[in-house]
Amino acid sequence: MNRRNFIYLLGCNCISIGLTSCSSTPITERRQLKLIPESTLNAKAAALNEKVKKKEKLSDDKETLSKIKKIGSKIELAISEYFYKNNMPDPTINFDWEYILIEKNKVKNAWCMPGGKIAVYTGILNITKNDDGLAAVMGHEIAHAVAKHSVERASRGILVSTGTAIIDIASGGKLSQVNKTAGQNVVGMLSQIGIMNPFNRKQESEADYLGLIFASLAGYDIRETVKIWERMREANKGKEPPEFLSTHPSSKKRINQISTWINKIILEYPPIA
Ligand SMILES: [Zn+2]
Repeated sequence: MNRRNFIYLLGCNCISIGLTSCSSTPITERRQLKLIPESTLNAKAAALNEKVKKKEKLSDDKETLSKIKKIGSKIELAISEYFYKNNMPDPTINFDWEYILIEKNKVKNAWCMPGGKIAVYTGILNITKNDDGLAAVMGHEIAHAVAKHSVERASRGILVSTGTAIIDIASGGKLSQVNKTAGQNVVGMLSQIGIMNPFNRKQESEADYLGLIFASLAGYDIRETVKIWERMREANKGKEPPEFLSTHPSSKKRINQISTWINKIILEYPPIA
């Protein structure tokens, strides 16, 4: 699929709002509405990240953490390098990247807050299984942050009903039932910036697409991505669906869409380093 088709599929929702508050997502060039400054959300995310680190038990598995950091820094570099080489502004210029591994085997989840605060729960490691798998999940989460989906979501809410989204962000929003295992306190905290609340389908699709690109640019085998989603589906057959699935339903349709992108992305976005 070429870029134009992708944009066509995703559509544009920035109608009659005024160009000043509209910008585009990197690479997919989907028009976005951004009324809330990125710096506001980033600052809030950074503060929350500090709280998460105090509340959660951080894993002492140094080997896995350094693997996560290594994969992360390869993705960071690949993103910056890509935008630099293409004379485009680096969307991660204001990021202050940080990686934590949270010791919770029951929680199969990972997230990336606005501004690049990334957490992986130990529970997702038996689904990601290898570096390519981990890069796929991290690439997807990082893509949400790079595409400023939280900024967009927060901004959209202001328009839809006055202040609702702001209140939603400020007061915790609605918590997913499935996220209970992650610990109410932390989930409540994360919900303040919309992490743990589902992104919309368009944003999910975009994060899938950009995530593949970022992992490929960073030198990972993105064919593993389909296998991960299959493993997710498999894990979903248990009593407690993985948290990642509550916000990322791995439908057949989604897996099919990802597989139609893979070969082209491998060719068009080879390892950049
Ligand atoms: Zn997602």
